[in-house]
Order: sequence, then C-alpha cells, then structure tokens
Amino acid sequence: MTRLIFIGAPGAGKGTQAAILAEHFHIPHISTGDILRAAVKDQTELGIKAKAYMDAGDLVPDSLILDLIRDRLAQSDAATGWILDGFPRNVAQAEFLDKLLVEINQHDYVGLELFVPDDVLVERLMLRGRADDNADTIRHRLGVYHQQTSPLTAFYKNQQRLRQVNGHQELTVVAKDLQAALV
Ligand code: ADP
Repeated sequence: MTRLIFIGAPGAGKGTQAAILAEHFHIPHISTGDILRAAVKDQTELGIKAKAYMDAGDLVPDSLILDLIRDRLAQSDAATGWILDGFPRNVAQAEFLDKLLVEINQHDYVGLELFVPDDVLVERLMLRGRADDNADTIRHRLGVYHQQTSPLTAFYKNQQRLRQVNGHQELTVVAKDLQAALV
C-alpha cells in the first residue's frame, strides 16, 4: 500500500515526478492544482471562487479545499493508495488531513520532499509559462511557499515520516532517487 504526500516548491518538479510515481505504484495522482485549474476552466462554483486567488499566486482559502480532498479520498480508487501533489499546503491543512486519514483508516503514509534552490525554481517557472507564471506571481508564490508550506517539512520530520530528495538533477535521476527513497 503506497500513500505519499509530496511537498515541494512551485517548479520543483512535483507534477512530473508524481505522475511517474503514480504510474509505478498504480495509484491515483491527486493534484489540487490540476483539480482547481479544471474547475476554473469549467467555470464551476469552486472555479469561480478560486480563480482570483490562483491568479494572484495566493493559496485559495482552506474552506474551498478541505471538502474537495475529503470527497476525493472517499472515492474508490483511493482505497488502494494515492499520491497527493499540492495538498496539504499549510499546517492547518496538514492537521485536517491527519485527522481525516485517521477517520478513514488511511493514516499510514510517507511525506516526500523534493528540494530545489530558489534561483533554479525561478528560472524553471519563467520558462514554463503557465497563466500564473509571470515574474511577480512567481516571486509571490515562492514567498507563500516558504512562509506557509515549507513548515510542513518540520511537521512531517517530527512525525518521522519525511524522506527528502534533491530535485535539482536530471529528471530521470530524480525519479530514480525518489524510488530509492521509498524502498
Ligand atoms: P505550483 O506548485 O506551481 O504552485 P499548483 O498547481 O500546485 O502549482 O497550484 C496552483 C495554485 O492552485 C496555487 O498557487 C494555489 O492558488 C492553488 N492551490 C493548489 N493547491 C492548493 C491548496 N492545497 N491550498 C490552497 N491553494 C491551493
């Protein structure tokens, strides 16, 4: 049974590597960023509420995300494991998640951090060119990451669940290191 919580700054390569891991372990890749972008595109109630926060590079309010995660983890494909990409993104979300996972008996999981230096992240994001990848928003999102999300490494370290992998390497090497970290 594989349950992974993937932590890493914007541009760290989480999305790419999460997709590889999901295929390898035959588990669903649950990306809150992808779910939110689909909601924005479809102009659902969630998407309409989330859009301004995403465009500004801010986290969307926890109230929009928590029900979404609860519903997603209740789906049948999540019973055999999952990889979470982009959630949790702050300590309140991590605490909510721990409580939820105990409730649904899925609390055996590993925290996986992909670390990359900030200057490399900025370079990668400028090249990627997604709608929210402009210079101001990128700087802002990195600030939000350091302030709100990076405390999760200590959170999972305290729980002795954290594995850390260097994301500033060639894609295939990162993939290999991630798999090695999970043995
Ligand atoms: P990146 O890792 O490049 O920032 P994501 O696709 O993970 O990209 O997220 C894009 C945007 O979606 C974030 O900037 C944020 O506004 C929103 N978002 C995604 N996940 C969460 C979350 N767990 N809590 C709050 N906002 C989120």
